[in-house]
Amino acid sequence: MGDRTVSGKAYIETLFKFSKLISHAEDVSIVFPDLVEQARKLIIFDNFVIYLEEKGELRPAFARSVGRGRSKEADIAWGESFIEKVFESNKLTTHQDVVQGPNDDRLKIPYYIGSPLRHGKTTVGVLIMIRFGGPEFNSQDQQTFTFIADHIAQLLERDVLVSTIAQIEGSQRMWAMQENFVATVSHDLRTPLGFIKGYTTTLLREDTNWDVPTYREFLGIIDEEADRLQELIDNLLDSSRLQSGTLQMNLQVVRLDAVLRDMIQRSQLREIDVNLELEIESQGVIVQADPMRLGQVFDNLINNAIKYAPRSTVIIRLFVDGDDAVIKVIDDGPGIDKEHLERIFQRFYRVPETRMAVRGSGLGLYICRQIIIAHDGTIKAESDTGQGTTFYITLPIVEGDESV
Ligand code: ATP
Ligand code: MG
Repeated sequence: MGDRTVSGKAYIETLFKFSKLISHAEDVSIVFPDLVEQARKLIIFDNFVIYLEEKGELRPAFARSVGRGRSKEADIAWGESFIEKVFESNKLTTHQDVVQGPNDDRLKIPYYIGSPLRHGKTTVGVLIMIRFGGPEFNSQDQQTFTFIADHIAQLLERDVLVSTIAQIEGSQRMWAMQENFVATVSHDLRTPLGFIKGYTTTLLREDTNWDVPTYREFLGIIDEEADRLQELIDNLLDSSRLQSGTLQMNLQVVRLDAVLRDMIQRSQLREIDVNLELEIESQGVIVQADPMRLGQVFDNLINNAIKYAPRSTVIIRLFVDGDDAVIKVIDDGPGIDKEHLERIFQRFYRVPETRMAVRGSGLGLYICRQIIIAHDGTIKAESDTGQGTTFYITLPIVEGDESV
């Protein structure tokens, strides 16, 4: 065959290009030709067909013929019985037609590989590839093919979610928001999961020996992405519990300056990169609070400063204003445009300009506000673009209790 697939590092790079295409794709029909092109570098095939189930029947939804299959472009109803077989067996299947007739007909003999496309437990279609004249799909081809099929299933699933949202928007706005939540969440969860899966599969390949630095680099990525996933899941759980009012607050009488000192110490142990300054203008201010949850609020604000105002000095100032304790968290980073100042506290809201540059899911400040509200307090952001950002928190002071 004249075709060549890539190997070694280029193989991995192509796998990730493929993954990236999937995760960035907005319009399924537009991205498919590019997917086929990338897939061709990973695995040799002549025909590439996606069948989707519609009213009990499998219909071709997308088909491409390349190489030897090109002459058959018009005819996309290949291998009907094979497709049924894949759909029914619901697993990766290979097949080749029996050789009959003279030798030069061998080039016409189709070799098939197919896999179900699943959304959760439901099989929604089948992906098949055909090679005319072989060779048969070996175990590495099968692995690569499974990778491709799983990713395409994800893309189709997302597409279904997106169009579902489009349909119900307007008439059932509340429902649409709910779906949107699911789409955002699954997308956010899939990104780190995609990296973990991709790098793990790569390391497990038996036909390649990785040198120690590459090995460590990949494990490092897996480790970081696993942490990210953990953080995301924690945030998601907190945010839904906060919304439904089922997050337990362990309120107790605490000295705010002590809580802040504690928190700064912990941050400094974790983050060498941040320059934190604590300014206590009023000593011994006492509030009713869950110290762990308050710590979570400040962790979020400090993490944001590290992400969005890098190399900035972060000042945390505590003072009293009337019946309230006030804590300001001040950075001298790029600031936030007025139009976004209130919206950054909404669930999943991120400032469009920073969205591409810095990873995050827009849950941090939502969680902060819900926690502060549960303390009968307030939180707002003040900023002028280019002038840094100040988060302004108030908590009601508990009078006359000096017991802590
Ligand atoms: P997560 O905290 O869930 O990982 P996130 O950091 O994007 O994701 P939030 O903490 O809710 O979410 O922040 C919302 C948005 O507010 C951020 O995406 C960023 O655009 C903006 N923002 C937050 N803090 C700052 C800051 N100190 N300076 C500039 N912009 C900020
Ligand atoms: Mg954040």
